[in-house]
Amino acid sequence: MKMILLGAPGAGKGTQAERLCKVLNIPTISTGNILRAAVKNGTPTGKQAEAYMKAGKLVPDEVIIGVISERLAEADCQKGFILDGVPRTIPQAEALDKMVKIDKVIDLEVSDEAIIARMSGRRVCEKCGSSYHLLYKKPAVEGVCTNCGGTLVQRKDDHPDTVKDRLRVYHEQTEPLKEYYEKQGKL
Ligand code: AMP
Repeated sequence: MKMILLGAPGAGKGTQAERLCKVLNIPTISTGNILRAAVKNGTPTGKQAEAYMKAGKLVPDEVIIGVISERLAEADCQKGFILDGVPRTIPQAEALDKMVKIDKVIDLEVSDEAIIARMSGRRVCEKCGSSYHLLYKKPAVEGVCTNCGGTLVQRKDDHPDTVKDRLRVYHEQTEPLKEYYEKQGKL
């Protein structure tokens, strides 16, 4: 199964991907997680992406297309994968269509108000990227990742003003993908 999860930032793509990948036994590919690791490690991709990410803007398509084509070429992706947070623009979707045949696209619909409320409580593991919430998805031990023991932190781009910018970017650039995949009969 080659699947895409669409939805606004904070809609729950990462949480659903974590569940689905265990059931389907295929990897989740999150460009957000790949880019955060690249920023942390100071790689050339990380240096290109950092300022866009901090501002809640989209990283340029050429950078994302490079990241995703490299990742999809790895052996663990050959029998299937779940894409979380990519594609986010029509040019990314078109580039992806040239790389692989996508089977299904699932759109998670959540109101902007609910997203703003959720994001203020979101915490992520700085080591493995697992996602938690102060009220709705607490770790076994406060501040510690249940999955790997890493430290839980608030993402810089989860602050309310940046969240509003990210939602605006989502509505302008990513929401048109629903129609793109609906026309292909995959939504
Ligand atoms: P995410 O964890 O998916 O919310 O991604 C965090 C940030 O990484 C986004 O706000 C963007 O700056 C960048 N990013 C992740 N995936 C993409 C993508 N497919 N296209 C452009 N920017 C991306």
